[in-house]
Amino acid sequence: MNNLEEETRYIMKKYGINANKNLGQNFLINNEVVDNIIQSSEISKEDLIIEIGPGLGTLTKGLLEKAGKVIAIELDERMIKILKERFFMYDNFELINKDVLKVDLAELIRNVKLDENIKKAKIVANLPYYITTPIIMKLLEKELDIESITVMIQKEVADRLIAIPGESCSGAITYSVYYYAESEKIMIVSNNSFIPEPEVQSEVIKLKIRKKPLVNLEDKELFFKIIKVSFMQRRKTLINALVNGGILKDKIVAKDIFNKLGFDINVRGENLSIQDFVVLTKEIILQK
Ligand code: SAM
Repeated sequence: MNNLEEETRYIMKKYGINANKNLGQNFLINNEVVDNIIQSSEISKEDLIIEIGPGLGTLTKGLLEKAGKVIAIELDERMIKILKERFFMYDNFELINKDVLKVDLAELIRNVKLDENIKKAKIVANLPYYITTPIIMKLLEKELDIESITVMIQKEVADRLIAIPGESCSGAITYSVYYYAESEKIMIVSNNSFIPEPEVQSEVIKLKIRKKPLVNLEDKELFFKIIKVSFMQRRKTLINALVNGGILKDKIVAKDIFNKLGFDINVRGENLSIQDFVVLTKEIILQK
């Protein structure tokens, strides 16, 4: 047993904690992974770190040492007691006992940046896997004033999130992530790095938020709606998906647009680049 595993087991025993599967509780016990997450987050004393799901505080400890301020958001009340007791001596620590999806992160960041000597905000987390996608999408779509997101997630989801649009494992979410951020693989993490062991392999990824939009969008909502509809019926051709999904009136209109853009009429959503979806959206706007 390594030190972190011993410490984790000790804390769990002391507070009578059984991991709650429904809350995605898999506690990290691998020091190398903890160090790697903290290092690749590139934290300075001018940073606000928002940690999602601190659990027993395994990552929190390192974050508190390096950051100007750490705000940890944890849903499980049992963890709040532990975190308070473990970290009461740090005056740069704040805890929020809430579902992260219900926290107004934009306001939180704005307030911290107003009040304190904080220049940048970053997100760091070993995420609860049952809500990985909604959390990542909330962080990106709200266009928060953040520099980066360094998170551990399921490897399978990581592959899809950080694929290049058009690669075989692309999904609708690939295009969103690519639009908002530049992504980087940090490390693959084996199942035995956690208590209890998750059923899936994990991966740490870093998303660096783009300072300028990758492409200019006339109608961002429609753009992402078209992508979503294109991937809802993956087995269908893009033309069928767009017509069935109510984006285009009928196949005749669809074929006209595809011919004009020089797209193969049998093409599927996953074959299009982000730029292809931009021109497609423009053409669809003209038809409306
Ligand atoms: N950071 C700890 C670690 O690395 O050992 C725990 C990570 S564990 C995978 C995920 C944590 O997220 C748990 O502590 C869980 O209680 C918390 N959590 C689950 N759902 C949440 C939610 N909706 N909002 C905030 N925290 C949540």
